[in-house]
Amino acid sequence: MIISGNIKETRNQIKEWKRHGLSVGFVPTMGYLHEGHKSLMEAAKRENDKVAVSIFVNPIQFGPNEDFASYPRDLEKDAALCESVGVDLIFHPEAEEMYAEDFSTYVDMNGLTKELCGKSRPTHFRGVQTVVSKLFHILPADRAYFGQKDAQQLAVIKKMVRDMSMDIEIVGCPIIREADGLAKSSRNTYLNAEERAAALVLSRSLAEGKKLVESGERDVSKIKKCIEAVITGEKLARIDYVEIVDFADITPIENLDAAKTGEILCAIAVYIGKTRLIDNFICKYR
Ligand code: AMP
Repeated sequence: MIISGNIKETRNQIKEWKRHGLSVGFVPTMGYLHEGHKSLMEAAKRENDKVAVSIFVNPIQFGPNEDFASYPRDLEKDAALCESVGVDLIFHPEAEEMYAEDFSTYVDMNGLTKELCGKSRPTHFRGVQTVVSKLFHILPADRAYFGQKDAQQLAVIKKMVRDMSMDIEIVGCPIIREADGLAKSSRNTYLNAEERAAALVLSRSLAEGKKLVESGERDVSKIKKCIEAVITGEKLARIDYVEIVDFADITPIENLDAAKTGEILCAIAVYIGKTRLIDNFICKYR
């Protein structure tokens, strides 16, 4: 397994594989890898000859009061997990390699990025789109793998690729959860024992919402109220947002039947103590 922090070296390696007619799958991550990331790597492994993973805590997608400095990092453990899956290359650059002192070009979009996480993290998706665009240029893969855990991010990246005619296929992968339902996340390490128990309120509230949808409820405000009621019952939890949007374009809807392709995204962000966690379900019901 190659580990490189160098842009030129990494790009040359990917190009060489492609010259030999090998397909390349790419998994962008911020590291501190867990089973969620592993599932993306395994999907990439199944569908491609070579697999590349990037591990980079991207400073420009964090807001000024967010957890960039404290974000967990463990390259040695990450490399071992990558090796166990059969990853061929890890791209692990320093921030200076990615962002020169005079860096000034950003990728952004209207629409999709303004709702949900975009409201509480106004510069987040600009940072994500910029780094992912750069990574797609550094690692010109055939396919890139993203988790549905970050459903808005997945929608944004798919749209960016379409809008910019980028030559890469975006593959979405299902959310991997702990046995008790908590969505796996590198940020779960911030939780103490009491908070870890309280964090179950995310998956529990979504399960209640989903049950309501499956029973035929179409009124978005009623479904949201049901989810909010479960969350507010947990004293360590504070709602950032509970939203239901049309998954086709991440626009708010009042009735599920208004979704253009019949696919809705029900997404929540909840503070458990100081830790902000997200979870969601996507429902295709026609
Ligand atoms: P991150 O390292 O948090 O930036 O995540 C890197 C990629 O892994 C993103 O595409 C995430 O959506 C995906 N991911 C993170 N957690 C999970 C999970 N629990 N299940 C599936 N994918 C995940």
